[in-house]
Amino acid sequence: MAGRLSTVATLALAAAMVVVRAPDAVRIAAQTPTTDRAAAAAHDGRYKRLLIKNAMVIYGNTKPPYGPMDILIEGGLIARITPSRAPDGPAPPGAPPPVQADAVIDATGKYVMPGIVNTHMHWHEERMPGIPLPIQYERNLYLASGSTTVREVGGDFDKTNLWRKQSAEHTIVAPRIINYPTLPNVVGSKRQFDRSPTGIRAVVREAKARGADGLKLSGYDRDQLEALMDEAKIANLPSTVHVGVEETTAKDYVELGVGCIEHFYGVADAALDGIQNFPPEHNSNNEIHRFGRAGELYIQPNLNPRKLSDLLDLMVEKGTCWSPTMSTYEASRDLIKGQNLPWYKDYLHPSLEEYYKPSMLRHGTYWIGWTNTQEVRWRRNYRVWMDALREFGLKGGLITTGDDAGYLYGSLYGFGMIRELELQEEAGFHPLEVLNHATWNGAKALGLGDRLGKVRVGWVADLLVVNGNPVEDLRVLNPYGVDVMLVDGKRVNSYSAVDLTAARNVTNGHGGGIEWTIKDGIPWHVPTLMREVRDMVEKARTELRSKPKPTESSSRQP
Ligand SMILES: [Zn+2]
Repeated sequence: MAGRLSTVATLALAAAMVVVRAPDAVRIAAQTPTTDRAAAAAHDGRYKRLLIKNAMVIYGNTKPPYGPMDILIEGGLIARITPSRAPDGPAPPGAPPPVQADAVIDATGKYVMPGIVNTHMHWHEERMPGIPLPIQYERNLYLASGSTTVREVGGDFDKTNLWRKQSAEHTIVAPRIINYPTLPNVVGSKRQFDRSPTGIRAVVREAKARGADGLKLSGYDRDQLEALMDEAKIANLPSTVHVGVEETTAKDYVELGVGCIEHFYGVADAALDGIQNFPPEHNSNNEIHRFGRAGELYIQPNLNPRKLSDLLDLMVEKGTCWSPTMSTYEASRDLIKGQNLPWYKDYLHPSLEEYYKPSMLRHGTYWIGWTNTQEVRWRRNYRVWMDALREFGLKGGLITTGDDAGYLYGSLYGFGMIRELELQEEAGFHPLEVLNHATWNGAKALGLGDRLGKVRVGWVADLLVVNGNPVEDLRVLNPYGVDVMLVDGKRVNSYSAVDLTAARNVTNGHGGGIEWTIKDGIPWHVPTLMREVRDMVEKARTELRSKPKPTESSSRQP
């Protein structure tokens, strides 16, 4: 994996020599005031040297913010981090001489943190059959929400390989892509997947030969899994697993050396004395049954806390990471909220809007007759799950962040990542710990932890310039923005002392959002990305109004 990133960095250097001019309209929108002689950075600008000035730095390793600092990016890497000079003031002691950058981002009053590593996502070019979903819609949303690296865990293998290459060559506006196909993805729809141990071994070798970065596993019996994991070890292919309700539990996968556990199933299954108490009418092919009962898993009376702790210990010992994707399922504990998020108005594409609606046929749309009782169970389920995640973190386990968006209400590309961060804070982690999960931990899980995910000299320049302090409120990372307290029009912390006699000067304002997402040193202006998303949504809605309604059909996905 280190080899791959070296290639990425080399390509960044090559791309940095080419100055690509953004369209005039975009350049004007992206202007940021600067006192420096160098021009303000432009959206999608390609610079040999890009300087970020006056930034409060969040490093990505739980160290508290530090600043103001200037960060020089050269050839796609962080070349220098130095104390900022006061305007027209003397240089701080020991400061190196200033460098002339090609472009500047003025981060005065802003925070700079590493780009987010999304360890669980899927690219979709359609959700509701008949309504195409532009791939750029998802790319923009992921970048606008700070994901500079994404791991696709099951998708179109060849397409993702192509997009991975284009992203590394900087010919598309997209996060860095890591490709973990499932074995059926590798086989494709035209061939039969031979699930015998011998057949499985052959597809693992094929995955490696055709460029998989790792494997996404799900639904294997113990003998199949033993063959698979043995062959993956020989091929030096890492893996991650979505454990369903199977013959195998998380314990089998951890014992056999899986790299990461996705979601929450499988972990609690391994901690039950016996099995989950499924009623006789249960049919796991019915999404209402499957998800309704999944929300009762952690509150089974036979869940043995000692077994759970033992499994978490084993995961720590084996270095197995946990990518819980808590935001994915959140509508299960609050459906009405999931159906009415304020950013739907401008940013929900109709292909998703139609897909989300309650249905017996589509994956994750199990809302037909959804009850308060089911929500209450899911909330209690979350509480126990969060405690297990917290225990895993305290034991030294590697926790990452992924959004698995585009299936359940509320789980919208990128927005779901920020909600994931908020939920991990709810699980008991300090915002600095959550930011560590979202950045450096994610890079470690992908085998890139020696050069990605921290603000550090010599490391890859994947950086976010944030309007506000994510340590004060993780929600400032949401591309929709966030409510803020204004006193005399100036933003303050909402716990600030306020003169009540002058309370009319205290108002609710709207702020936040990431201003710039930088990948391999290329800056993308987030308000520009979001304007493009809004335009795509508006265009699709207009087209849909002039077309007959699409017919419903099954589109089950992993
Ligand atoms: Zn998924």
